[in-house]
Amino acid sequence: MKIAVIGTGYVGLVTGVSLAEIGHRVSCIDVNEEKVAKMQQGISPIYEPGLSELMTKNINERRLSFTSNHREGIEQADVIYIAVGTPEKSDGSADLSFVVQAAHNIVDCINHNVIVVIKSTVPVGTNDMISEIMQCHLTSDIEVEVVSNPEFLKEGSAIYDSFHGDRIVIGANSERAASLIEQINQPFQVPVFKTDIKSAEMIKYASNAFLATKISFINEISNICELLGADIENVSNGMGMDQRIGSQFLKAGIGYGGSCFPKDTKALIQIAGNVEYEFELLKGVVNVNKKQQGILIGKLNDCLPNILGKKIAVLGLAFKPNTDDLRESASILVTTELIKQGAEVVAYDPIAMTNAKSILDPLVQYAVSIEEAIENSDAALILTDWDEFKNVDLAVFKKMKKPLVIDGRNCFSVKEMERNGIDYYSIGRSVPA
Ligand code: NAD
Repeated sequence: MKIAVIGTGYVGLVTGVSLAEIGHRVSCIDVNEEKVAKMQQGISPIYEPGLSELMTKNINERRLSFTSNHREGIEQADVIYIAVGTPEKSDGSADLSFVVQAAHNIVDCINHNVIVVIKSTVPVGTNDMISEIMQCHLTSDIEVEVVSNPEFLKEGSAIYDSFHGDRIVIGANSERAASLIEQINQPFQVPVFKTDIKSAEMIKYASNAFLATKISFINEISNICELLGADIENVSNGMGMDQRIGSQFLKAGIGYGGSCFPKDTKALIQIAGNVEYEFELLKGVVNVNKKQQGILIGKLNDCLPNILGKKIAVLGLAFKPNTDDLRESASILVTTELIKQGAEVVAYDPIAMTNAKSILDPLVQYAVSIEEAIENSDAALILTDWDEFKNVDLAVFKKMKKPLVIDGRNCFSVKEMERNGIDYYSIGRSVPA
């Protein structure tokens, strides 16, 4: 099958590369010419385990190409995927301008019947709206059918997820279109769930909102644990053994971040609001998350009431491990607050520092290792649970002025830290006596 993918971000690039890997001829299109030039040379503009290798392999085997010219990319395609961003607008709703622009790009270029697959996360009703826009602008008898195929990959394991996903959701108005998209995806051998378009759009938002709810729930429980002297790790483990609950997304920390949960929860509140339904539970989830993201600063201020001129090491900038994505990462909020309180911030992240520089420069200094970041520091804050941090030799913290670690991801055992003479504060666990 000849496929075009519009937008080569985390979703579009991974989709394009994975579809090429299972044998399709894929042309990836992006308006960002600098990015396209890199990808044409086999350089991935994002960090995602396994992505570069598959990209190079499929370019060499001539199944994968990149262009910034929509006509060139779309001309031959039987199926066109839209995988552009749907960022948050100031009122919390989803900005659909990139999706609408992509629809215009398609009608400007096609001269044959196509199926347009919307991968971007879009509010219920958007697929129908995009279909209408395209029908209105098509002058001849060209037929375009729109299919909803929301994406469920997780940054940090996106390639793995494409081949081992829990389900592929296909929302379509015709069995013909649904079957074609099912056939395209068949080599992935991932279970397919076919449904109507509006339900497919809702499945994506409801899934993200549910996962965000689990995170805010366990964070609230962790705060209560701290007040009562219970241990959140034990509580999560005990809860997760119940198969009705499940152990995933029950890890207490400093809240969810990233390019999806924060914007999708707020968008779903708006989507409900548009039909005069107040999604009270989800509003609570969003508020709890905001509060949780600030919790480390509170713990730091309890230990060091005045951080003016103090050297604070920030370990971890990405919103989660194995990605270079900083969108809505708690690290931005925490670092900005530290600077506001007059601290001297030295940050280290194994992968995300290049991206961080465009957001945090010139506010922070960057270190090349954990050791360099914490040397002579007054406190170290852990914001991302990278394996490199979890596996560090605890003796390294002796390089601090006086070892004080405030851990937003519960990377270490409380007892172990105590044994090593480290003043250690984490989330939802009792402070050593
Ligand atoms: P992104 O911002 O990383 O990438 C979007 C890309 O689209 C950019 O490279 C941009 O230059 C390009 N673009 C914009 N308009 C274009 C046009 N008209 N023609 C060609 N290229 C264009 O976005 P992302 O993180 O990949 O997310 C894409 C969508 O998938 C969003 O709706 C998001 O909510 C959803 N999603 C994201 C994830 C994730 O983990 N990132 C997971 C599931 C779903």
